[in-house]
Amino acid sequence: MSAYFSETHSGTAAANTFDAIVIGSGISGGWAAKELCEQGLKTLVLERGRDVKHLKDYPTATTPPWEFPYRGRMSLKHNKENPLITKAAGYGDDCDHFFVKDADHPYVQEKPFDWIRGYQVGGKSLTWGRATQRWSEFEFTAPERFGYGIGWPIGYKDVAPWYSHVEKFIGICGSKDGLEAMPDGEFLPPFDMNMPLQHIKQSLKDNYTDRHLVHARWAHLTDPQQIHLDQGRGKCQARNMCMRGCPFGGYFSSVSSTLPWAAKTGNLTIRPHSVVHSVIYDEKLGKASGVRIIDANTKEVIEYYAKVIFMNASALNTNLILLNSKSARFPNGLGNDSGLLGKYIAFHNYRASVSGTLDGYLDKYYFGRNPTDLILVNYRNLHQRDTDYFGGYTTFMNAYRDQHPNDTEQGQVGAQYKDDLCEPGGWHVFAYLQGETVPVERNHVRLSETEKDQWGIPLLITSVEYHPNDDMMTEDFLNETAAMLQKAGVKNISKYNNKQAPGLDIHEMGGVRMGKDPKTSLLNANNQLHACKNVFVTDGACMTSTGNQSPSILYMALTARAATFAVKEIKKGNL
Ligand SMILES: Cc1cc2nc3c(=O)[nH]c(=O)nc-3n(C[C@H](O)[C@H](O)[C@H](O)COP(=O)(O)OP(=O)(O)OC[C@H]3O[C@@H](n4cnc5c(N)ncnc54)[C@H](O)[C@@H]3O)c2cc1C
Repeated sequence: MSAYFSETHSGTAAANTFDAIVIGSGISGGWAAKELCEQGLKTLVLERGRDVKHLKDYPTATTPPWEFPYRGRMSLKHNKENPLITKAAGYGDDCDHFFVKDADHPYVQEKPFDWIRGYQVGGKSLTWGRATQRWSEFEFTAPERFGYGIGWPIGYKDVAPWYSHVEKFIGICGSKDGLEAMPDGEFLPPFDMNMPLQHIKQSLKDNYTDRHLVHARWAHLTDPQQIHLDQGRGKCQARNMCMRGCPFGGYFSSVSSTLPWAAKTGNLTIRPHSVVHSVIYDEKLGKASGVRIIDANTKEVIEYYAKVIFMNASALNTNLILLNSKSARFPNGLGNDSGLLGKYIAFHNYRASVSGTLDGYLDKYYFGRNPTDLILVNYRNLHQRDTDYFGGYTTFMNAYRDQHPNDTEQGQVGAQYKDDLCEPGGWHVFAYLQGETVPVERNHVRLSETEKDQWGIPLLITSVEYHPNDDMMTEDFLNETAAMLQKAGVKNISKYNNKQAPGLDIHEMGGVRMGKDPKTSLLNANNQLHACKNVFVTDGACMTSTGNQSPSILYMALTARAATFAVKEIKKGNL
């Protein structure tokens, strides 16, 4: 069978019946497809956006800066028409085709919330930042231990083998540091740590017992293994143009890795332009029977059927679909017996950064455009609560040389400017916060009762805001980071609180959380809806708390784990 098809299939029930349906083809959906197909299930992936094929659909992958009309920036008209999406980190002329246009996909911001989306085959896996640290046991247990959330039904030991499984396949570079707060994994060699960063690392060692600056973990192939070559991927060229799509397959995306791998099994069908409207619940069977879609172009309503359904539309869209899946048994949304569907929406605290300059090291440079940063591993609230706020934080850090020290607004032309470009300036150091936020019930999404999108689906209302806990954490990060850098001899230190709205951190989580008790959660330890066992939610919607690590590799590990469980349950006749 051809792996991909894009024509409308409104035919018979038999033609529209598969073993498994996956909603969404991004980071987590790609993993669901890979595992389900490899384990023998005929799998339909429904994707609301257009198709994107590796290599063929990266139109700017090798475009030099001077060929962009605005040298990578956007026109004023475009920025005016897209005030929201243009705020996304790394957004520009080179990658805007992998982001939605504001006007096409409205939602209602009851409180300011910047919802960053990429609707295409591959989802946000094409544009993500690729940071992939493991969660530690501290993160799984902290909410219950310190009383700011419910307990996770699983712990680090449950996901550790699945992290390994994912890391080996997608390729993660990093160093083994033996730190409990950021466990080691299956790593390829890291990128270089430049001299100023080595200097700061040593200063931290000299001045603290609990502060470790290490290579972060990133989904880049620094030394491709056979499994990566088998995917048709090659070594990362340190071009740092990742968000355009990588023609070398040097970083992980579902388009370069999991989806083509799933297609090779002959079990995969991807249907782009398929906006999932709702999951269909069969009252007689007491389980979900399929999915209702609206063809994005023709607006035709079509139903597809399967034994199991994986929800991987990214956290907020998964919430939207479940809230819109109403039936006599579930009048308030599929699986919503607890009344908590759409609640405890969470995100990461990305409000703060610290920067400064470091004298010396003028005879040192670095190789290529290293696409990775270092991490100062979380040192807050691990064994015991040691601050007046809850949660921990990751500090990303890097140092670079000024590229054109004599640059001025007026001076970006002429011989002097060209000469300056050839001479690197001094070293700049910067650090930024990725902080855990506490789960809050009033941070929620719900469906609009009056407004619909162009496919007749109710608009999502976002009602999410920062909490005073986040302000305390921000303050602590700013003070501690400035003090650490000062001890390392960094000068001209400036602290910055950008006060950005939630959402812009791009780590949308929660709303369909996992838990031990169906009264306080929606999902069990295998990511099944407590009340509808053949529906699995394995994207960020399942997150019980946010931890402080970049979350996507946890979604991948949980998806692989849940898919393997689902196949076993089907074989046992339980689903
Ligand atoms: C600039 C940027 C930097 C980031 N950096 C990092 C990082 O360093 N580390 C990290 O861990 N994470 C990072 N993220 C976040 C990361 O991209 C997401 O956590 C991840 O993509 C979530 O995976 P997902 O499968 O849930 O969603 P996605 O990858 O967004 O995929 C969801 C898919 O579902 C489709 N879909 C949505 N609604 C429907 C519907 N109704 N019907 C059918 N299909 C639908 C979408 O079109 C999309 O293709 C970053 C994101 C961005 C944009």
